[in-house]
Amino acid sequence: MTGRPGRLAIIIVGGGASGVLLAAHLLRDPDADIRVTLIEKRPAFGQGLAYSTTLEDHILNVSAFGMSAYADDPEHFWRWLEDTGHAPDRNPRKVFVPRHLYADYLAGILDELRAAGAQVVPIRVYRWHPPPRNGDFDQLVAGIAEAKFDAVSFTSAPAVASVLMRATEMGIEDKVLSAFRTEVHAMCVGPVTARPLVRLGVPTSAPERMRLGALARHITDELPLLQSRTLRVAGHLLDIRGTCVLVDGAVKALSPAGMATIRALSHRPGAVVSRTDLLGALPGSGTDTHAVETAVLRLRTALGDKNIVSTVVKRGYRLAVDEGLAQAL
Ligand SMILES: Cc1cc2nc3c(=O)[nH]c(=O)nc-3n(C[C@H](O)[C@H](O)[C@H](O)COP(=O)(O)OP(=O)(O)OC[C@H]3O[C@@H](n4cnc5c(N)ncnc54)[C@H](O)[C@@H]3O)c2cc1C
Repeated sequence: MTGRPGRLAIIIVGGGASGVLLAAHLLRDPDADIRVTLIEKRPAFGQGLAYSTTLEDHILNVSAFGMSAYADDPEHFWRWLEDTGHAPDRNPRKVFVPRHLYADYLAGILDELRAAGAQVVPIRVYRWHPPPRNGDFDQLVAGIAEAKFDAVSFTSAPAVASVLMRATEMGIEDKVLSAFRTEVHAMCVGPVTARPLVRLGVPTSAPERMRLGALARHITDELPLLQSRTLRVAGHLLDIRGTCVLVDGAVKALSPAGMATIRALSHRPGAVVSRTDLLGALPGSGTDTHAVETAVLRLRTALGDKNIVSTVVKRGYRLAVDEGLAQAL
């Protein structure tokens, strides 16, 4: 429930007896320059623990005369009982009515506020559901395992837990953690979000201020520094990013096998990488090193200069790094 717009904004969490009474007192003065938001998780305001019972035998332990919402108007509750036909013909000080009537009374107070201009806005409080299986979320988790992304941003610890739980269900938790420890950067909004990853030995980074805007800036500032690797190879400037490679500034889109191959080759620029090691780096779990030859062939074509990846006879492949320049870049 939201009171009329005002300069001072107050949020009351819990729309039981205390919450409703506090809202009523705050909004009682029609000239109060105040906006009150009352948040309640039950479907009805005013019931709370004490007044949600529907049993007639569950009566108030204070007489009707002592239960007014307003101390300066002790008969307020009693008048409501009379107006609604619930007041027995007895001394109000000796009347103890069922508790559910008090919930109705409190709800009636909110009705009075509504009549005076307050609005009721139902708000759905957070709900956590696991994302559907085999959908976009699973593709995201599989993509992390294959190091298809430069970074993944997390804005809550449950989101981290959700990714890790789904990775476990998919049987790829080890690959996901390994990707987070190496090529995929986990960028978290703050330390609480990062904690489940930190506990698992995953390096994370976060902005100084725990705000979404600051996280976005952090990603755009840090990621290029963390992720990109620039090498001088066969007379070209090779810029290796998370999902593509730039050759002399021109973007070359590579297949996952091509990206995996060039990443493995650039791990130690210029060093020979065996076919077996390259096979291990390729997506999937193939055992035939012909897959490596095919991947290298396609990689060379995609890069546009076959000399960028050299064959080292009987040993494997290497990037044709221009000696002396690799360290300088
Ligand atoms: C059995 C019983 C009988 C009582 N009888 C009397 C009596 O006769 N007379 C008397 O003066 N006092 C009585 N009391 C005391 C009375 O309950 C309290 O004075 C009063 O109800 C306390 O109000 P409250 O708002 O703090 O708690 P509640 O009335 O329980 O309200 C708390 C509200 O917060 C909501 N909430 C909790 N967490 C969240 C969340 N995360 N987000 C949104 N909403 C949330 C709950 O759903 C609930 O509606 C009785 C108490 C009990 C338990």
